[in-house]
Amino acid sequence: MPTVPVLDTAFFRHWLELAADTVRRESARLTELDSPIGDADHGTNMDRGFTAARLAVLQDPPQSPGGLLVTVGRTLISSVGGASGPLYGTALRRAGRALGDAPEATPPELGEALAAAVAAVRELGGAEPGDKTMVDALLPASQAYTGALADGLGVAAALDAAAGAALAGAEATVPLLARKGRASYLGERSIGHQDPGATSAALLVGCLRDAAEARPGADGPGADGPDAPGADGPEERR
Ligand code: ADP
Ligand code: MG
Repeated sequence: MPTVPVLDTAFFRHWLELAADTVRRESARLTELDSPIGDADHGTNMDRGFTAARLAVLQDPPQSPGGLLVTVGRTLISSVGGASGPLYGTALRRAGRALGDAPEATPPELGEALAAAVAAVRELGGAEPGDKTMVDALLPASQAYTGALADGLGVAAALDAAAGAALAGAEATVPLLARKGRASYLGERSIGHQDPGATSAALLVGCLRDAAEARPGADGPGADGPDAPGADGPEERR
């Protein structure tokens, strides 16, 4: 029987670790994407924000998935000057609030949190799907996750579907005309470039999938529970 990842605080801490590492590794590429249609700071913004978020969670470890997402969101808002800081920050805060202070999220609750995050970005930034923004990766990801659960798939498979949809959505921004954010100032010249925010959104959703794959449920083979030494890999303890 396939194991089911437990969506507890340790799961989201692991997601944050993966996200911070991934954003750092991909920082140059994100900044490069932000060069022709922006101001060449998206990678730096994301790296600064997620480094600060990792530190905030280390210094004052949140006790619930919701609390962790609220902390990450708040830290992104206060540490990132660009448009993406308030947008991602508000999205994560809203997702965290949707989860409340329960010690664990159910798979449908994670879907509600993803939907709340997308709604928050759309409310704050006013972007519609197809406007060449992070919404073009986040919305299909949220829909794919919910659709996969409705089809009877487990949370790991649903997050895999979400990650695939986010990546496809990011790649599909290339031919689009930007209608929001700095890239919109370029008009037609924004066509032919992949949106940096949609690209980072796909990375963040990919990290959710990776967290689920790396961390099977406490009753799964090889997993002795969330507090077992080494259960989350060495980087979790760094
Ligand atoms: P800035 O544009 O202020 O330099 P970043 O470079 O960090 O901020 O982030 C740019 C990304 O933010 C864009 O690629 C786009 O995906 C996203 N973005 C900008 N404005 C909006 C908006 N109004 N709604 C949704 N996403 C937006
Ligand atoms: Mg920028």
